[in-house]
Amino acid sequence: MTYFVFPPSAPTVLPVSGGGLLPVRRVFCVGRNYPDHVREMGNDPAREPPVFFTKPADAVTTRPTIPFPPATDNLHYEGELVVVIGRDGRSVPEAAAKDIIFGYTVGCDLTRRDLQTAAKKAGQPWDMGKAFDFSAPVGVVHPADEIGHPAKGTIRLSVNGAEKQRGDIADMIWSVPEIVSCLSGLVHLAPGDLIFTGTPAGVGRLFKGDRVEIAVEGVTSHVFTVV
Ligand code: MN
Repeated sequence: MTYFVFPPSAPTVLPVSGGGLLPVRRVFCVGRNYPDHVREMGNDPAREPPVFFTKPADAVTTRPTIPFPPATDNLHYEGELVVVIGRDGRSVPEAAAKDIIFGYTVGCDLTRRDLQTAAKKAGQPWDMGKAFDFSAPVGVVHPADEIGHPAKGTIRLSVNGAEKQRGDIADMIWSVPEIVSCLSGLVHLAPGDLIFTGTPAGVGRLFKGDRVEIAVEGVTSHVFTVV
């Protein structure tokens, strides 16, 4: 008879608007996906395929307080629309991407910018800049049955009531269907996978005590405090 040598860790679960809990499977994130910086540098923002990186599932949390992470002097916020996958998908065509999306929420791609910058310079992986404990605060999941599939709407992030980021999800270089289609050609997407879709301009630093609010029009909002 086989047995667990220690108890398996409990799944990360997210509350769903209308009831139920969503078990988180994996977390994918899209690198820079709003054209603000790209265009002002005179480049074509749509020419390169999207850049993906990951966070562990247990980095995702809805807790109202986020412990300031260790090993950084430069913690950054990145407010993002988050896609929640609800069905299996491999090489999904753009036109069918909505069929595998369960719903949406908002999240913060917390980043130890000093570690990420050092890793980039050294040609090393970003993981320790991006994939640390509590690095993915998110809100309640809203099913597409409730809110549809938002393709436009203001995305904004404020710190202590002062607006720091404002954009529109319609400005994403890679739209949600394009991201889902592309990612599903790289990995077999499955229920519970989350996709952070990138952040608009205006990222900046967080300190202990800061209260962060992220909102996407037509989706939801989420608040947390760094402690
Ligand atoms: Mn990000």
